Amino acid sequence: MKYILALDQGTTSSRALLVNHAGQICGVRQQEFPQIFPRTGWVEHDPTDILNSQLTVTRDLINKICNPDDEIIGLGITNQRETVIVWNKHTGNPVYNAIVWQCQRSAEYCNFLRDNDYTETIHRKTGLVVDAYFSGPKIKWILDNIKGARQAAEQGDLLFGTVDSWLIWNLTGGKYHITDYSNASRTMLFNINTLTWDEELLELMKIPAAMLPEVHSSSMIYGHTEQAILGRSIPISAILGDQQAALFGNLCLEPGTVKNTYGTGAFLLMNTGNRPFFSQDGLLTTIAWQINKETIYALEGTIFMAGATIQWLRDNLGLIKDAAESETLAASVEDSAGVYFVPAFQGLGTPYWNMETTALISGLTRGAQRAHIVRAALEAIAYRTNDVLSVMQHDTEMDLNDMLVDGGAAMNNFLLQFQADISNLSIIRPQNIESTAMGIAFAAGLAVGFWENSDELRTIKQQTRVFTPQMTANKRNTLYQGWQNAVKRCL
Ligand code: ADP
Repeated sequence: MKYILALDQGTTSSRALLVNHAGQICGVRQQEFPQIFPRTGWVEHDPTDILNSQLTVTRDLINKICNPDDEIIGLGITNQRETVIVWNKHTGNPVYNAIVWQCQRSAEYCNFLRDNDYTETIHRKTGLVVDAYFSGPKIKWILDNIKGARQAAEQGDLLFGTVDSWLIWNLTGGKYHITDYSNASRTMLFNINTLTWDEELLELMKIPAAMLPEVHSSSMIYGHTEQAILGRSIPISAILGDQQAALFGNLCLEPGTVKNTYGTGAFLLMNTGNRPFFSQDGLLTTIAWQINKETIYALEGTIFMAGATIQWLRDNLGLIKDAAESETLAASVEDSAGVYFVPAFQGLGTPYWNMETTALISGLTRGAQRAHIVRAALEAIAYRTNDVLSVMQHDTEMDLNDMLVDGGAAMNNFLLQFQADISNLSIIRPQNIESTAMGIAFAAGLAVGFWENSDELRTIKQQTRVFTPQMTANKRNTLYQGWQNAVKRCL
């Protein structure tokens, strides 16, 4: 047997998967690791936990699933994006915990950047909004706050990497300090127009260029794993940030194709081909991947609360006993009886970018039942998605016909039907919703000739379920107008 090994290093767990030539997942291992919250709004991981959990699941998978003469012909890494690790290149020791993408410790520095009119420059160069999510300000925090770090960095002793770089450096015994274009484009230090680390931004954040990884294509053979580490020397042949991998895994390879991952939050990415669009509506411009010297860009919209809204109904209000119950309850009533639920618990992301607002339930009458509130919560996920789809279509002037979906909440049939109705799009759910892992496996397999090209990937048979719009335009407009009014109240 021949396999591709996909490593999916996520925010809460590390996973390893083996994929065969037919595109089937032949084995999965997963391990959670501790989340560290040193104070309110701060989130860290121990880089050793990240590495060890990833190695444990990978070794276990190889040992249990592969016979000695089975070949693993390529290994791809997809990862939680933006998270920062800084380590000493002589000892391999991290100088501090990994600062996780969610961590807000650099919010104040981001205020400084905004107050000093860097917003436009940063957007034009990196495609990003100024926000504490991104890597640059986190690296700056480490250099400013960890004793001796700045001096060591200036002497060339420290390396920075996102999680992909950290894993590859360790898997190759410190031989390669590299990343790919999709991960580089999330650092707020990388110029997505010139495809180089941006000297002006490095100077602004006082980050020595010697710390930065070399940026490579997202699908090529970079090097091999050290024999001793996984018991095999495997070509490392793809790197992609997790959301970009999901776009690839959904085979959104043409301009104008979109995927939405309905997880805790939701991330919409639209492939815009080899042209970056710079949104005036709060969408991020990002590099989807670079393959065969062709750079593909994407627009990205962020929704903070998607499936998490359903968790809140379950854990804080006790309205449902599990997430799946939301589907039957929502379908048990004809409509939401005028109830709207704007889940702005942590503010609202694209296109509003308002961090101050809180959530709101409006339109309650004495007739309102539990089912109406639960239904309104599911509808809200679809309305928020539609808010993002509207600006994507507006900014690119591209008409969408359909959207690929994945993530835990994409299991909800009511949600997907309502999404089809409210967005007037066909919603396509592959049976295998492991699109992140499939995306990185595809990219790794292409680099080593396991699959010839994207046409061959399309022939890998995937059962899908398609939700087609059933609602009249009139009803759609009335409902969406009601949502927009509720958002206005919320803001
Ligand atoms: P993440 O990768 O962000 O942790 P997942 O893709 O695993 O998220 O999805 C988990 C989320 O999906 C949870 O917030 C959960 O409430 C939601 N979820 C799971 N099943 C359903 C369902 N049937 N209906 C609605 N939401 C669901």
